[in-house]
Amino acid sequence: STIGANLRETTLRFGEREALVDLHADRRWTYAEFRRDVRRLATGLHRAGVRTGQRVGVWGPNRWEWTLTQYATAELGAILVTINPSYRQHELTYVLQQAGITAVVASDEFRGQDYPSMLARADDELGALELSVIMGSPEWEQLLPAEPDEELLDVVAEDLTPEDPINIQYTSGTTGFPKGATLSHRNILNNGFFVGEVCRYTEQDRVCIPVPFYHCFGMVMGNLGATTHGATMVIPAPAFDARRTLQAVQDERCTSLYGVPTMFIAELGLEDLGDVDLSSLRTGIMAGSPCPEEIMRQVIEVMHMEEVTICYGMTETSPVSLQTRTDDELERRVGTVGRVVPHAEVKVVDPVTGETLPVDSDGELCTRGYLVMQGYWDQPEKTAEVVDPHGWMRTGDMARMDAEGYVQITGRMKDMVIRGGENIYPREIEEFLYTHPDIVDAQVIGVPDERYGEELMAWVRLRDGAARLTAAALREFCDGRLARYKIPRYVTVVDEFPTTVTGKVRKVQMRDEALDLLA
Ligand code: ATP
Ligand code: MG
Repeated sequence: STIGANLRETTLRFGEREALVDLHADRRWTYAEFRRDVRRLATGLHRAGVRTGQRVGVWGPNRWEWTLTQYATAELGAILVTINPSYRQHELTYVLQQAGITAVVASDEFRGQDYPSMLARADDELGALELSVIMGSPEWEQLLPAEPDEELLDVVAEDLTPEDPINIQYTSGTTGFPKGATLSHRNILNNGFFVGEVCRYTEQDRVCIPVPFYHCFGMVMGNLGATTHGATMVIPAPAFDARRTLQAVQDERCTSLYGVPTMFIAELGLEDLGDVDLSSLRTGIMAGSPCPEEIMRQVIEVMHMEEVTICYGMTETSPVSLQTRTDDELERRVGTVGRVVPHAEVKVVDPVTGETLPVDSDGELCTRGYLVMQGYWDQPEKTAEVVDPHGWMRTGDMARMDAEGYVQITGRMKDMVIRGGENIYPREIEEFLYTHPDIVDAQVIGVPDERYGEELMAWVRLRDGAARLTAAALREFCDGRLARYKIPRYVTVVDEFPTTVTGKVRKVQMRDEALDLLA
């Protein structure tokens, strides 16, 4: 069965094992020390007025104060709202208002954005902030009394239940404006725990987490996946940096490494990859967007991650609903997103009628179980659009399931291209383009076309030193190996793709830019 307990009982109980390492701050905590600091901060926040159910924003890149805030707010039953570190003024103001945030714990800056003045400006407009504290400031120090008030925290905890909301997590904003998924203690604790089970985490494991904490990949699969098993969370740097990530793996002897595909591509592309000692690695997770087979194979072979798993999920489902397993055969470990996770259900339906489809057919993936969010915060109509009365969540992703339950994600419904009446999932073409010796990263979008309605455009990043690649040459490469209608008409060579902070490629933005390219 799933775990019923709340965060503190399930995670902060591993005594002298190492809990957290922040390499940028050069600090480390055992579980006993971490638990004490979490409860000091919880005490400080309570004294500053933070109460159960109150929305507390946390805003910043990956740093230890962020993690401490994650656990301290959970102790109080407050609802942590994780704010994207690259938000601009209007997005910050929107989130503060949409989630009804009355307290914020924030970093001083990120990528040149001056957080204190941005918070001040937002508050001038909204006038709702009762508490606004910058990490590392004198006010932050005041939130950390010498000793936790154990008695107070125990009294507060008596009224908390596993169904209480613990987070509002905003989606990545890959396809439009982010939505705030309200998740309970039961939702995310169980998800983190079971993902960690599949990775076979024990107290000996050390998990390198370069993915952003503000997103479910970092905070649930990372922080909770590790701490529900007594493993160590290693923060290599505040924001993703390929070299610092691998350096951290080497220096901290990490056994597990996380990343979205673009992060692994960057790591595999490091010139001195061969000089870094990655022999401590055993497992890890690739997730967040389509995981190219080619990249998975290299991660297994070159990075020593023999047991690496792929997770599929979405913020709205806590997030993971499908995961590959170490004992699956290799073909399935690189070519599918595995089978459904424990205590959950998935099905593939006809997107129009909602009827369940037979195995091996393409349809929309749906998920049900403990992992489905409570709803989009304060947006019941939006919630009703995606969660049906029987509890099934529509993912908006197209998928195919085989007779043994292995699922392949064929693409996002919003990214599907219809060319001359044929439905095309860019994913399939991208997978093929990765087999070109000079292409290190490939993305395919649809662009408007008078004759066919839409035409395909490939965006590719080339290997250093590769010769120029023309559309004609690429089409020739595809000829005979891809159905004619799937061969991209246009090719754009780029240095990088537009991405979200979570490292996901923003095809919406690519489509906008493509219009300019064609104009
Ligand atoms: P938004 O909903 O704001 O447009 P988003 O859907 O990218 O953004 P997330 O909740 O972070 O926000 O991501 C979930 C989506 O990521 C899934 O719906 C799916 O499209 C994609 N995804 C996640 N993991 C995988 C995977 N292993 N393979 C393919 N796609 C994946
Ligand atoms: Mg989404």
